[in-house]
Amino acid sequence: MALVRTAPRFTTSDAAGIARDLYGLSTEASELPSERDQNFCLRDASGAQYVLKIANHQERREILDLQNQALSHLAGHVPSLAWPRVVPSQAGNSIEDSGNFIRLLTWVEGDCLVHHQPYRQELLLSLGAALAHTDTALESFSHPAAHREFYWDLRNYALARPHLALLPPERLSLVEPLLDACDSIPWNNLRHSVIYGDANDYNVLADASGSRLVSLLDFGDMVHSATVCDLAIALAYAMLGAADPVAVAFHVIAAYHRERPLTSAEQDALYRLTCARLAVSVCNSAWQMREAPENSYLNISNQPAWALLERLADMPGGWAEEVFHRACEDQAPLDRLLAARRHSIGPSLGLSYDRALHITHGWKQHLYDAYGRAYLDCVNNVTHVGHGHPRVLEAAARQMSRLNTNTRYLNHLLTDYAARLTATLPPPLSVVYLVCSGSEANELALRLARAHTGRHDVICVDAAYHGNTTTLIDISPYKFNGPGGRGRQPWVHMAPLPDVYRGPYRGPDAGARYAAHVSELAHGHEVAAFICESAVGCGGQTILPEGFLHHAFDEVRATGSVCISDEVQTGFGRAGSDFWMFQTQGVVPDIVTMGKPIGNGHPMGAVVTTPEIAKSFDNGMEYFNTFGGNPVSCAVGLAVLDIIRDERLQENARDTGAFFLAALRELASRHPSIGDVRGLGLFIGIELVRDRETREPAPEETSQAVNRMKDGGILLSIDGPHHNVIKIKPPMVFGKSDAERVCRELDGALN
Ligand code: PMP
Repeated sequence: MALVRTAPRFTTSDAAGIARDLYGLSTEASELPSERDQNFCLRDASGAQYVLKIANHQERREILDLQNQALSHLAGHVPSLAWPRVVPSQAGNSIEDSGNFIRLLTWVEGDCLVHHQPYRQELLLSLGAALAHTDTALESFSHPAAHREFYWDLRNYALARPHLALLPPERLSLVEPLLDACDSIPWNNLRHSVIYGDANDYNVLADASGSRLVSLLDFGDMVHSATVCDLAIALAYAMLGAADPVAVAFHVIAAYHRERPLTSAEQDALYRLTCARLAVSVCNSAWQMREAPENSYLNISNQPAWALLERLADMPGGWAEEVFHRACEDQAPLDRLLAARRHSIGPSLGLSYDRALHITHGWKQHLYDAYGRAYLDCVNNVTHVGHGHPRVLEAAARQMSRLNTNTRYLNHLLTDYAARLTATLPPPLSVVYLVCSGSEANELALRLARAHTGRHDVICVDAAYHGNTTTLIDISPYKFNGPGGRGRQPWVHMAPLPDVYRGPYRGPDAGARYAAHVSELAHGHEVAAFICESAVGCGGQTILPEGFLHHAFDEVRATGSVCISDEVQTGFGRAGSDFWMFQTQGVVPDIVTMGKPIGNGHPMGAVVTTPEIAKSFDNGMEYFNTFGGNPVSCAVGLAVLDIIRDERLQENARDTGAFFLAALRELASRHPSIGDVRGLGLFIGIELVRDRETREPAPEETSQAVNRMKDGGILLSIDGPHHNVIKIKPPMVFGKSDAERVCRELDGALN
């Protein structure tokens, strides 16, 4: 492939001279960017404008004739767009030859697409429809010169392969598979026609408001090829620089498909062709930059293309391609899904956000929806080591293919896991029961406590939640005192939520004063257990005041009762400073319950207790749990512990958590609606108020802010007795740049 460039280069005064001599126009000229040719904008005294196109000296006349013919064909067939008109020379020629071929076109008013970033949805729909109309019109167009070997024709993607050698290794590994993926495209099954072939973000013109496409420019890449390549090329450029590139593609494809339905073979090839265009583009750029480093036009699309390729490579496998396909489906899948859910799923299962999300993929700290949007996940503490972690997947798949049974056979995974889990805990917490959920863990913890003490009653704290069974609802004020709750049962005793922001006690002795209430209840009743989260999640991310558990545990134990730490939300390093949140209070519970993060989404839970309590429970009745402690769960649990250690996730929770809290406190200094910011590690709460003095809760405002954040691509949740606490408990791979993004968006959402 030879390098194509104009030689010699023409100046603006050359261009003005050509306009005068060949076209009889008296104009001023300015140069326009172009890859292979030289283009000039001409403007005469009346303000009329033209484009003077001086072809590179290797261009063939037939190719220019192809362009001229196509323009007049399109002008006749697609009246909704403004097409440049060919202006004949004074001699009556549509192409002049003065060493280089020369043409004059009328100027079309409009703004390059790229100037309208971020693109409005209506503009993307307009782009898709305009391209579909153009492709439909070109079906009835033919020209012998269109049948050519052309390196920008995507069918010739393989011509870019020799340039791979110019790329550094990490970029090579990004690009090479994208070219390879095209090897399996069944080209003969794709419709072919002459295509425009260059709907890049500088060639596509929009109206001034950025809501409608007005024209396509530069027909130098026209070629007879697979028609779907026209759309693939447009997508590659429309996605550049977009916050949600796949969502951009979704709208363009959907609009195109409505006007000109894609065949299933075209749908199958579209994503590969879009990526191939980016790959070809960066390969050709690398080559052209080596050949002609002075041509600055070449730098225009290079950097955004690399950035996009890197973004696409960091998305979950198969997701973007699936969204491309979905764009060609009937556009009411969300409504259908909602209706199906209403029909067959219990109505008491809630959905988050004003407009429900349809999430199909997860990867690290991001969730991905069905329509091309990515969301930063600040909520899912279950996927502790990140969504879709390959080591968890691998551990589960390997063990699932080998054996899955129950705990009635010897299996080293069970004992290995118990040993690894208890190694994270202080003595005497050394006996493990594996179950399938946090609720099962708390149920079993209550049975252990009752068996050990021979008593029945339980002390909990106000606003707490411990699980979904009948018994656990009864010890969860969050539920029994909430809508549909049956109130407090006589065997349940409720201590105040140790909340130093909103509760009665603040200051250094608050922990002891809240603990005194627990003590009073323990001494006043025959109590089996005091159960408390080590930071109260549903209570509004309430961080326990110093000394609270210490004093409470001492007093509770003095009455012969046992202390249960519910670490379902708070465990496994989230506290940052410690592996277990109870350690931040300097205590050792008698029973610890675990769930959520323990299996990174695999349904698991655990209870760990002392040998003494375990002995009391061994009263002749077998404890059997069909799924609890099965080898697959143990393999998953081991993988999670390995990843927390290997990826230093507890340290990340400590460092990122401290950074995040500081940034949120800075935000609070500028937003009076933030009443309180509190947290430990990556367990954070932001309490919103209408008035800092009265601390009047701001539940509607909190809901608005969280929904606005969702629209901005960030997922948060709300909790607390007044529904005014923004909860943050992300996957532990959450980083400082994520924290900065949340603060930036929250700054806007709170305004
Ligand atoms: N304890 C706490 C503190 C919880 O937050 C939850 C769940 N939200 C549970 C127990 C119950 O866990 P699961 O939903 O796995 O049964």
